[in-house]
Amino acid sequence: MMSGACMLRDVSLCSPVGEIMLTGCEMGVHTIDIQVEKRSSRYWLAQHMVSNGQSEISSELQRCVDWLQCYFIHPDSVSSLPPPAFHHPLLQNDSFTAKVLWTLFEKVELGKTVTYKQLAEMAGNPKAVRAVGGAMRRNPIPLIVPCHRVMCSSGDSGRYMGGKGDHIKVWLLTHEKKALEEVNPEKTEEST
Ligand SMILES: [Zn+2]
Repeated sequence: MMSGACMLRDVSLCSPVGEIMLTGCEMGVHTIDIQVEKRSSRYWLAQHMVSNGQSEISSELQRCVDWLQCYFIHPDSVSSLPPPAFHHPLLQNDSFTAKVLWTLFEKVELGKTVTYKQLAEMAGNPKAVRAVGGAMRRNPIPLIVPCHRVMCSSGDSGRYMGGKGDHIKVWLLTHEKKALEEVNPEKTEEST
């Protein structure tokens, strides 16, 4: 259910977790899609960025590209970058799903994790653990809205991309942890 007024463009990026397809309009990013079946080689080149058939992309989409490149190359400094605007309809309404996604985006920083239950509490409904799971599955903007930082209460990292991206989730969490340890080698204690 995309808003009919949006002129969507797409860009694909090579990343350490595979090819990433971004779509967005002038107003902001609509989707980030990690194409796990198109597994890229382990190396990645920052300049390997392909704009599909479009010579120009909106400034918000460019901001998204910049954010992702920073996230993968210098994750410790990504918090100093302005994130792109989001324009997916799911994030424009006042549903519980939207509230969960915005709470996750605003409150759960790089290198931190929360459980589904904690996120339900943070979004104002401690009983809505299953609904939080549903919101994670529907997250249109993974990586920037960090659904990979939501874990099972058991400590298990849990499913990602319906199970086919579980290894990506582990990779992302390790990537963030390493980045923080390099910045603060003294402070490596677990955050809870
Ligand atoms: Zn739009």
